[in-house]
Amino acid sequence: MASVEIVEIRKNYGPLEVLHGINVSIANGEFIVLVGPSGCGKSTLLRMIAGLEEITFGDILIDGQVVNEVLPKDRDIAMVFQSYALYPHMTVRKNMSFSLRMRGAVRERIDQDVAAAANVLDIEGLLERFPRQLSGGQRQRVAMGRAIVRKPKVFLFDEPLSNLDAKLRVLMRTEIKALHQRLGTTSIYVTHDQLEAMTMADRIVVLQDGRIEQVGPPLDLYDRPANQFVAGFIGSPAMNFVPGTLRPDGGSWIVEARGARLKIDSVGKGRQGQAVVLGIRPEHLEVVAPGEGIAAEVGVVEPTGASTFVFTQIADIPVCAVLNDRRLPRPGDRIGLAPQLDRIHLFDTETGLRLN
Ligand code: ADP
Ligand code: MG
Repeated sequence: MASVEIVEIRKNYGPLEVLHGINVSIANGEFIVLVGPSGCGKSTLLRMIAGLEEITFGDILIDGQVVNEVLPKDRDIAMVFQSYALYPHMTVRKNMSFSLRMRGAVRERIDQDVAAAANVLDIEGLLERFPRQLSGGQRQRVAMGRAIVRKPKVFLFDEPLSNLDAKLRVLMRTEIKALHQRLGTTSIYVTHDQLEAMTMADRIVVLQDGRIEQVGPPLDLYDRPANQFVAGFIGSPAMNFVPGTLRPDGGSWIVEARGARLKIDSVGKGRQGQAVVLGIRPEHLEVVAPGEGIAAEVGVVEPTGASTFVFTQIADIPVCAVLNDRRLPRPGDRIGLAPQLDRIHLFDTETGLRLN
């Protein structure tokens, strides 16, 4: 196991800078998830940690040692890719033992380690098959097995579940997390899927356009997103945003939004007359009688079974509520929506930064 430090990392492809100074300190044994939209630089950063991509500026340290010039094979790292990258002409056993054979390990040791990894991943029955004889999920397990037998200091994962169907993805997600709990190996996991990030990470690093937007434990990001980007990226259905102006109202405050007046508890750094975006998560809205709360008109109603998404409009602004009971409004109904006041997020319109 090892700590990993990413210090002021920049990456240029020709004149184009795609990472603009990334700093992250990863503790020994931590499971870190790099998440962000496609093209934000996740794979580039991961490949630099692996040694597969040249570092334009900055340092990467593993266990306190700068590894910028260390070859990938000497970094004691194992990487699992979306494409599995198995050798097609080798059996599962040969695929899994490849790195050990390269290292010149003795036969008994190799057999033992492959058997142990196959046992952990429940693929003992597949050892003599070729990759083409496996399902996507089985191939992904073999790719993981190949990483595990190396007993690396650090695991790197680049969207390893993206090619699997939804159900298998959820299953493998849990298995990877269980595996990490058992092995305790420092892991850096890249995904564009915020739910994968939320469920798997000790800490999440949110990236956008080659910059870090926020770093923190999943629920910290969920409860107190540092800016509007993180607020909108984490959580599904996404947080509702209501643009308006901050106004004092008696002893308290409101956000005035196209005629609607939304009460607000604490405005933090917000100032009177400031252009703001009020954020409220769909699950923090309650449906109340028309005339109470904020007036809304119901558009589409989507039951998912456990809960129902109700898409409404407040003064032309789309607002989604998630309801957990079966007393549901119908399309066209006029209802009231009451936000939980202590769950309201307030952002500066110009900078997007959190105010409260
Ligand atoms: P992500 O993994 O977050 O989707 P990438 O790290 O693959 O993003 O890419 C980050 C940015 O760098 C993108 O704009 C991509 O087009 C660009 N990029 C990636 N690889 C190369 C390359 N070999 N040459 C030029 N540009 C690249
Ligand atoms: Mg990528």
